[in-house]
Amino acid sequence: MIATLEKKEIDPAVAGPLQDCCFETLALHAGTTADPVTGAMLTPIYQTTTYRQEAVGKDKGFKYSRSGNPTVSALERRLAAIEGAEFATCYSTGLAATTALFLALLRSGDRVVSSQAVYGGTVRLLRQTLAPFGVEAEFVDTADANAFANALRKPTRLVFIESPANPTLKLTDLNLASGLAKRAGALLVVDNTLLTPALQRPFDFGADIVLHSTTKFIEGHNATVGGALITRDAELHEKFLFTRNTIGAIQSPFAAWLTLQGVKTLPLRMARHCENALRVARFLERHPRVTELAYPGLESFPQFELAQRQQSAGGALIAFEVEGGGPSRTGIDAGVRLMNSVRLCALAENLGAAETIITHPVSMTHGAVPPEQRAAAGITDGLVRLSVGLENPDDIIADLEQALEASQGDTR
Ligand code: PLP
Repeated sequence: MIATLEKKEIDPAVAGPLQDCCFETLALHAGTTADPVTGAMLTPIYQTTTYRQEAVGKDKGFKYSRSGNPTVSALERRLAAIEGAEFATCYSTGLAATTALFLALLRSGDRVVSSQAVYGGTVRLLRQTLAPFGVEAEFVDTADANAFANALRKPTRLVFIESPANPTLKLTDLNLASGLAKRAGALLVVDNTLLTPALQRPFDFGADIVLHSTTKFIEGHNATVGGALITRDAELHEKFLFTRNTIGAIQSPFAAWLTLQGVKTLPLRMARHCENALRVARFLERHPRVTELAYPGLESFPQFELAQRQQSAGGALIAFEVEGGGPSRTGIDAGVRLMNSVRLCALAENLGAAETIITHPVSMTHGAVPPEQRAAAGITDGLVRLSVGLENPDDIIADLEQALEASQGDTR
């Protein structure tokens, strides 16, 4: 089901001789060359604080590792190339990237319109950290064209979209979002963490900035935390570089190096994640205990047509709810019991890793989202989020089958 992404025009300065290459090739090669001194194929981990300068004012492009580091730069070139952009900056975490984005572009009195269902940490940052500095955030159902357009009637500096949204998997029409943002004179930011450029290319739909938590699929092995801001606009990039330096949020060389290795298999991993997720989603769809199910790769998904238009496959995430068992059991109890009963799948925060992860958003990733916003966004107390990994799908299904059975049993 995964289409090989078409050849993209890449700035030669970014991709060098790779400018005519396909996505899979860029994921392996873009941004790095063999080490000129030793021939080492892998970019070294430049574990250094500082760089000896030849003379005052004469350096080799690096001065101090808070401002820039060669291993981090290699990852930045690769991420820019695979998103089809010119510039990237990498950060210590995904939220550090979001923080740098907001600090670089927002001033007191500015307004952000954000998807209602977004990662809980993004909501917390806007509501609890930036609101006291005079930044206003409105969370709207960006899947509802009228509500979205209405929210943009007031002057707005940034439109922040997560599509699919974490954890409901609701989609926002990226074409519509970029049209509305442009008309409102706002910049469009797309958090592309859940799909990665292997499955969705926000710049093709008019996004100004793409954000990633590289912690997830980009690095893909549960080994690092990291983030990135990617853009085609040199001025925005300069602002991100400046802000990253002033707040000291750069990624570590070791995390960047691990991420460089992870990106190499991103196209292969995403293809297998999607195949496995579709198998698991079809199993859940048929299961009598599953009452609600969202997976953008299923024909029954309410926004299936939109998913087909802007994603090349359904992704790795599934959201579902289960029915309560016994007279006093609610779907919430049953969902919690299911999550407590998995054996192969890991009950954990995070998504996008090689291993299958099952998460209870309300008590984990979205605990900081106010209950009324959770209710409006459809983040119910019994919602289960599944990040389907790379195990044999039969084993994942067998584990879910026994956990679904256990979900209906005694509550002890
Ligand atoms: N964006 C999305 C969609 C996420 O799911 C997350 C984390 O779960 C983040 C951003 C923040 O990333 P990090 O955990 O690397 O700070």
